[in-house]
Amino acid sequence: MSDAKTVLILGDQLSRNLATLRDLNPAQDRVVMAEVAAEASYVPHNRHKIALIFSAMRHFRDALRADGLAVTYFEYSEGLASLGEALDLARKRSSITQVDCCEPGEYRVQEHLNAWARQSACTINWVEDDRYLCSINAFKAWASGRKQLRMEHFYRQMRRQHGLLLDASGGPEGDKWNYDQENRAGWRGKDSIPQRPDIPQDAITKAVFAEVETAFPDNPGDLSQFNFAVTAGGATAQLDFFIDHCLPLFGRYQDAMAEESPWLYHSLISMYLNIGLLDPLDICQRAEKAWREDKCELSAAEGFIRQILGWREYVRGIYWMNMPGYDKLNELAAHEPLPQWFWTAETDMQCLHKALQQSLDLGYAHHIQRLMVIGNFALLAGLNVQEVCDWYLAVYVDAFEWVELPNTLGMALHADGGLMASKPYAASGKYIKRQGDHCNSCRYKPDKVTGNDACPYNSLYWRFIARHQQQFESNPRMRLTLTNWQRKSADQQRAILDWADASHQRLLRD
Ligand SMILES: Cc1cc2nc3c(=O)[nH]c(=O)nc-3n(C[C@H](O)[C@H](O)[C@H](O)COP(=O)(O)OP(=O)(O)OC[C@H]3O[C@@H](n4cnc5c(N)ncnc54)[C@H](O)[C@@H]3O)c2cc1C
Ligand code: SF4
Repeated sequence: MSDAKTVLILGDQLSRNLATLRDLNPAQDRVVMAEVAAEASYVPHNRHKIALIFSAMRHFRDALRADGLAVTYFEYSEGLASLGEALDLARKRSSITQVDCCEPGEYRVQEHLNAWARQSACTINWVEDDRYLCSINAFKAWASGRKQLRMEHFYRQMRRQHGLLLDASGGPEGDKWNYDQENRAGWRGKDSIPQRPDIPQDAITKAVFAEVETAFPDNPGDLSQFNFAVTAGGATAQLDFFIDHCLPLFGRYQDAMAEESPWLYHSLISMYLNIGLLDPLDICQRAEKAWREDKCELSAAEGFIRQILGWREYVRGIYWMNMPGYDKLNELAAHEPLPQWFWTAETDMQCLHKALQQSLDLGYAHHIQRLMVIGNFALLAGLNVQEVCDWYLAVYVDAFEWVELPNTLGMALHADGGLMASKPYAASGKYIKRQGDHCNSCRYKPDKVTGNDACPYNSLYWRFIARHQQQFESNPRMRLTLTNWQRKSADQQRAILDWADASHQRLLRD
């Protein structure tokens, strides 16, 4: 008989097919799970996120026990400070010399557990997390020797490797790898938006709500609006709903924004994927099947698969290839303190108000709101990179550093100098107007650059370009923008910059 195993399962590893859960012997092996203060409070997490993870963990514990496995489980009310403390307590109950654990999603957790192992003379056996479609080493091998990393090249390789949307000759279905050009319609209110189903919550989740309300009274998140599934079965039902009702228009409105809906046709599955309730390959295959059965256009299925097979795996690779250190980058020297209204949503900029409010209340904003409304403002205003990253890590229900950091620090704030994105995602109010209907009910005018009713994004955009001219000069993708700025007369430039400085001061002081 082999030695008894102890397996530590983290809150984002709730998958029955997790590598460390395969081949366990219920007669002797043991699983340890713990809700601990260090994980629940390293940033002021949205209460939706804490409730989702605690409830999903407790449901997962019960499912493992129903399968006959012994699970040592510590609930939050037991007051454990850290994962290390949980393992110490587990060791008091039975002799443990090695803990098996799948690679964690965050460098911080890996460091903590490695430090615990050193001081407790116990080994951590890190097991590759093969729920991801590209391993950390495979990503490093793909990246090594390339002068520039581009998601599109990585994505094509992943399509080939996983046999997704390929024709009989192994080329891309429809003869094109990418239908991004067809995924950019703005919202004009012409299509009806599917009503999301209400998800019933059971006694376990309701008990968690009460604990979270008491333990985290000041954190963002309105739990009366909690509408997430907490089991793999529940998450699959949400995916079914998306495939049947939203996928057909997902591609067209992927970059759109609407006053009437926080989610339009988006899938609302990142939180399930990130904690292990859904499997990425299965999701991609479901989207491909929907297209093959004529339930959606190729552009919709491709656009959706690209997000999961391409972007999601790519950002994970970037994170692990560049940590530690990536979290400290600040290429554009952005140091302005995060305004207090990021925590209240009290701003008269309508697009920003809407995006912040739903982020705080629901823990959700879709990609364009995160990138082109909130992130764009933070970039143009030069907000402190670490403070912005911490804010993103706190407010979103799907936020884990491996995915949050490259998206925020790299894609939105360009603080990695172009590793994630070949040019900054900086835009004026005209872009936001084109993509949605927020400007119709805003006190500002998206076509004006200066004056009391001018959209603040406009002058801040030119201020940003003017301040970073030298850094952007060698970037061919910025040439047109720089030329447009340099063509303005000195008087025009002065007027815009004076107005931008005044707006900047007012907005950051409010
Ligand atoms: C500044 C910023 C911060 C972000 N922080 C996070 C985060 O903390 N956690 C997170 O999961 N995503 C993050 N994203 C990516 C993306 O915005 C969310 O995954 C998406 O909005 C989740 O909503 P959805 O499930 O409805 O996605 P959909 O729009 O329906 O997309 C489908 C799926 O594709 C994946 N996906 C799409 N874009 C990305 C991307 N850029 N990176 C990784 N996966 C992607 C997600 O798993 C998502 O569920 C961030 C993006 C930006 C610009
Ligand atoms: S006018 Fe500017 S601030 Fe107002 S909603 Fe439009 S883009 Fe946003």
